[in-house]
Amino acid sequence: MRVTQLLIPTTKETPNDASLASHIYLLRGGFIQGVGSGLYNFLPLGKIVLDKVRAIVKEELDKAGCQEVSLGFVTPASYWQESGRLEKYGKELLRFKDRKNNDFVLGPTHEEMMVNLVKQSVKSYKALPLNLYQINLKFRDEIRPRFGLMRGREFLMKDGYSFHSSTEDMKREFANMELTYRRIFERLGLEFRVVEADSGAIGGSGSKEFMVLADSGEDTIVVCDECRYSANVEAATREAKVCDVEPPEALYAKFHTPDTTTIEALSQFFRVDPYYLIKTVAKKALFDGGESRIVLYALRGSDELQEIKACNAINANELADLSVEELSEVGLVAGYMSPTIVPDGVEVVFDNELRDATHLICGANELDYHLVGIDLKGYEANYKDLVSVMEGDSCPHCQAPLRHTKGIEVGHIFQLGTQYSEPLAATFLDENGKSKPYEMGTYGIGVSRLLAAIIEQHHDDRGCIWTKESTPFALTIIISNIKNEEQVALGEEIYTKLSDDGIEVLLDDTKERFGFKMKNFELIGTPLALVIGKNLSDGNVEIVKRDGLEKMVISTDDILTKLKEIL
Ligand code: ATP
Ligand code: MG
Repeated sequence: MRVTQLLIPTTKETPNDASLASHIYLLRGGFIQGVGSGLYNFLPLGKIVLDKVRAIVKEELDKAGCQEVSLGFVTPASYWQESGRLEKYGKELLRFKDRKNNDFVLGPTHEEMMVNLVKQSVKSYKALPLNLYQINLKFRDEIRPRFGLMRGREFLMKDGYSFHSSTEDMKREFANMELTYRRIFERLGLEFRVVEADSGAIGGSGSKEFMVLADSGEDTIVVCDECRYSANVEAATREAKVCDVEPPEALYAKFHTPDTTTIEALSQFFRVDPYYLIKTVAKKALFDGGESRIVLYALRGSDELQEIKACNAINANELADLSVEELSEVGLVAGYMSPTIVPDGVEVVFDNELRDATHLICGANELDYHLVGIDLKGYEANYKDLVSVMEGDSCPHCQAPLRHTKGIEVGHIFQLGTQYSEPLAATFLDENGKSKPYEMGTYGIGVSRLLAAIIEQHHDDRGCIWTKESTPFALTIIISNIKNEEQVALGEEIYTKLSDDGIEVLLDDTKERFGFKMKNFELIGTPLALVIGKNLSDGNVEIVKRDGLEKMVISTDDILTKLKEIL
């Protein structure tokens, strides 16, 4: 294609609200255009890249036996009522009415729609297994849309759903999807990790996320460099922590501890390691239908509470902080709370690592008092994994030290079981004519987010560096001076020959200065440029590699062979 025919409104100015490289370069390079918070138009270049990514996703899924469908974006709210998610999904779900006062939602994900599709057309085990997907718009009214395509409100997602007659077959497909996703992200030239993920209230280990490694990622991943264990910090576990500092030997007693409301102060006051202190964290837990409860989480003073684990431990939708006043209203003394002396109606969850722990110190739920000599041997309570795994903690598989790194979630695969098929009464007849709910899996890819992820991993201080299969064009031909007939003739000739061979070429045939064209090439970021300039009088041209901006002078006779060799 010719730059003179394309709409590529590149700019030098960094947009006000953009801080991430991908956001800045996709806007400045003329790939996308902002419409409103979390809403973007795709301009010609952006559309080309989006279609390429989409095509790779489709190709690999089709090869893996999946079938593409296209579901309505506008979804009857009744579907969501049936599955019980209308309340649960919260404010991210955009709801509206039509002129006849019927309720609808804009699909943020399509489990309900897909289950209904299959329910209407499949009756027997003979039609199973099935893996249906679509690559379509989603809308989520995100609380904080930001970073451009990374967290939009309207975005392109591949969402797939599989239907099976048994759990084993669903697990087989889950593994098939993991392999397929790996292939997709490898083809896109991404460095990524497959990590164990939080499966929310469903629990189990049936959920994996695909994380593109990038410092700007919003997710924290815990990794082991010895055995390759990787998990989202929301789901990461560790070998139970031990402490080589002497435990504080003491008989059970109440101690006057004025002004020691923090773990640090308490640790100094008693001169003990925080490992032997109990940290009691109070949260207001919010549930379906607006119900709320106050919950105390108890863990070692040396640990931090992981909020997602804390939420899952009691099946809550969300946790909120409480003010000192709110605490005192229910009889809790801020800074001195205890998991063993608890006002009526307040629930307590202990961290697994406190099970049978001894020589502990905790609050007395009384101003200025702590309890020493706490012994939890045989103490019956609700124990759950609550800790946030830190760098240096031990790997749960091989005990090597764990490390934190950052990632961008580009895919998520999930073993659902019958979580949706049961409430939606989606059943099939098995070999014995018995009615059973489908075993399901669900699989997502953030297709538009991938554009941002590729650039986060592949850019420099001048602009984008697209990977081989994601780039809008394999090559940019820059005709340095459009008034020089010889340069134009050679540029046109190479452009035609390569295009005829099916190579996608962008020909910069504009009247702009050479410096401007070079800057645009660096910003747009095709992997290569062929510069036809002053050297031509000596029979030479230049090939520039975008990654590293390395230059090669070659003879005009070698252009085609050299380019094809590199491409
Ligand atoms: P996140 O934790 O980033 O909000 P999620 O867990 O809500 O993601 P899923 O519901 O699993 O995401 O959606 C499938 C995929 O869609 C994600 O893996 C991600 O790549 C992409 N995605 C989710 N939300 C957005 C968004 N607001 N903008 C762009 N892509 C998104
Ligand atoms: Mg989300």
